[in-house]
Amino acid sequence: MRIRKEEKITIIMGTLGLLLLLGVVYLSTVVQSPFSSTVGREGMYLLAGLINGAVAFAIFAQGWMLFTDKLSKQRLYSAVLFFMVGVLDMMHIASFCGVSLFGFMPGYELSVWFLFISHLIGAVGMLLIFSVPDKRVSRIHKAAAFASAAIVLVAGIGVLEMFQYELPQLLGAQAQETVKQAVWIVVPFLYGLGIFAILYRYRKERPPAALTIVCALLFLTIGHILLTAADPFGNGIAHLSGEWLKGLAYYYVLKGVYRLTIEEPFRGQQLAEAQMMHMAYHDDLTNLPNLRRLKEQLELHLSPEGKAGLCTGVAVININRFKAINDSFGYRAGDKLLTEVGARLSRRCLPEEGVYRMGEDEFAVTIPEYLDHRAIEIRALQLLKSINPLMTIEETEYHISLSMGLSIYPHDGSSVDQIIQNADMAVHNGKEQGMEFARYTASIKKRTQSRIELENDMRKGLDREEFFLEFQPQVSLETGRVVGMEALVRWNHPRKGLLSPGEFIPVAEDSGLIVPLGEWVLRTACQYNKKWQMDGYEPVCISVNLSMRQFRQHNLAEKVDCILQEVGLDAKYLELEVTESMTFDIDTAFDQLHRLKRLGVHISIDDFGTGYSSLNYLKTLPIDRLKIDRSFVKEVMLDGNGAAIVSTITTMAHHLKLKVTAEGVESQEQLEFLKLQNCHEGQGYLFSKPVPARLFERRFLTRFAG
Ligand code: C2E
Ligand code: MG
Ligand code: MG
Repeated sequence: MRIRKEEKITIIMGTLGLLLLLGVVYLSTVVQSPFSSTVGREGMYLLAGLINGAVAFAIFAQGWMLFTDKLSKQRLYSAVLFFMVGVLDMMHIASFCGVSLFGFMPGYELSVWFLFISHLIGAVGMLLIFSVPDKRVSRIHKAAAFASAAIVLVAGIGVLEMFQYELPQLLGAQAQETVKQAVWIVVPFLYGLGIFAILYRYRKERPPAALTIVCALLFLTIGHILLTAADPFGNGIAHLSGEWLKGLAYYYVLKGVYRLTIEEPFRGQQLAEAQMMHMAYHDDLTNLPNLRRLKEQLELHLSPEGKAGLCTGVAVININRFKAINDSFGYRAGDKLLTEVGARLSRRCLPEEGVYRMGEDEFAVTIPEYLDHRAIEIRALQLLKSINPLMTIEETEYHISLSMGLSIYPHDGSSVDQIIQNADMAVHNGKEQGMEFARYTASIKKRTQSRIELENDMRKGLDREEFFLEFQPQVSLETGRVVGMEALVRWNHPRKGLLSPGEFIPVAEDSGLIVPLGEWVLRTACQYNKKWQMDGYEPVCISVNLSMRQFRQHNLAEKVDCILQEVGLDAKYLELEVTESMTFDIDTAFDQLHRLKRLGVHISIDDFGTGYSSLNYLKTLPIDRLKIDRSFVKEVMLDGNGAAIVSTITTMAHHLKLKVTAEGVESQEQLEFLKLQNCHEGQGYLFSKPVPARLFERRFLTRFAG
């Protein structure tokens, strides 16, 4: 167990106190009185008594006057207690030294009583005050407590004054002696109890303030023993040491109460405020300053008082494919990656530059006060290149890549928000264009704005029913019959005309609108299929594409089930297309696909071969079909590689007992090749482009023979 400095001091003080006690006891027996006269001795008593009284009143003043709006029980009651103790001590010392106080001179007998009562009240009070938790009290509380104490004191002193000469006779000598003996024993016991209570209450961490009170109680105990055990008319050493020690104990009470009720809460408040400030201006995960701090720091650089004629750059840095890493390796790995990137950026930054975490997978670096913007561009690129891309995640080494967008004050914006926003725009735009570094330009702004517009239009478009479906047939290569269809969404934009999914699906995916849109597609596709079955056409399966966001919904299976129930379509006529990237996080994908599979729907992997997937998952996941991406089908007749890939995929699918559909079949030669590979089905312009529902119904659906 480690002993802290304060604890050491308390132990030393306690030991010194005990040594003093032993020393005084020894000296009292062997040494003659150091005082040449009674007057000298009483003068010393009086002096000590006055100092003790002054300290006791300081404790009272501390509760009466200081920070009364933050008054607590411990401070208030210790003030009240020492107000009473102080008065009693004064009465004791005055009557002991033969000084007339408040108009009466009770003599030695009563002076001893004042001392005993003072000690008893002090011991009981200290125990009650410091053995329970502290609490705030109101001003009314304060007034009531002091008024009660004053009334008790005035009444007590009044009674004593009235019966000052009769009292010693009233109490029999024997009774007085017994009571004194009892008090003599009870007081140290109460102090000891107080020490124990405090040490027990603060057993986990011992705040210095509580230890100061412990010291005070120790000194009070020793002081009490010295003052009450020795004969005051002996050589006077014990009595005087007791008085001085009591004074020291009062000082410790004063200090302890101050630390416990004023200093420590204030420190605690300061610490809490500092922590709150830190939290407000820092990111929890990386401990880097956050966007709020970035804005404040930039204000300093960009303010008119900042150095005129100098440029300041803000580079926003984004981790490419962060979402995929997070999804496939879990949040812990994602967090580790973010922390590491933050640390690497900080290490590479110059002292005048600052690294900030903007949120999610984005960081910002300020590059202040260069003479021209070219120099900032060079520095930003240098920083980007200096980051080591090799990261070890879950004991595997990965090559990460970063994208950077840069905007420079005053060229690219005149305000802090503009500069940050423009750098952010630049990085996102650069990413879309596949660039790792992009400086903000006006055209980037235009593109971003049109993207935002598109997002707004899409929101309205969903309500205004501007979306519709087209259907593309899937043909059995063996029989040539239409055995399925894929539903593909289209947008009839009020100003831009017909938009293909490539133009709006990424925006929908980014904005989250893909979820309601995807749900609409699923419901509408199921409705068409059901209607065609009701109209007497031979039932076929309809394929619907799922997006990453939809796939990540934990209640996807329930939603699909709900739609199937609502439409009344048998689940075996619905196929859901997922992509390889959705299966990165194999465990989550496994759960999700199994839940879907349990509904009875089919699952296919779309654009197969374009994502990098582990072949192992094909065995584990409950899938029915692979859809070979059209880029491979396109190449089958052009080069050997394409043909080899298609051939490998079909062979593998056969082994795994999966169905295979070739996408993008455009020519007869491709069809022949695919037939040779025993590919089950084909989809492509050779059979038909995606067509509207009416046309699909007319051209590709066959009525039941019966
Ligand atoms: P996909 O799921 O792979 O759909 C096939 C795409 O290939 C369709 O493009 C189709 O028109 C096109 N295609 C079919 N046969 C041929 C061909 O022989 N040659 C060529 N060059 N292209 C062919 P589309 O309709 O533009 O859709 C593109 C992608 O947008 C889809 O690829 C799919 O990933 C996504 N998409 C379409 N509709 C939806 C939807 O409702 N939800 C989601 N999440 N994504 C959708
Ligand atoms: Mg598809
Ligand atoms: Mg596809």
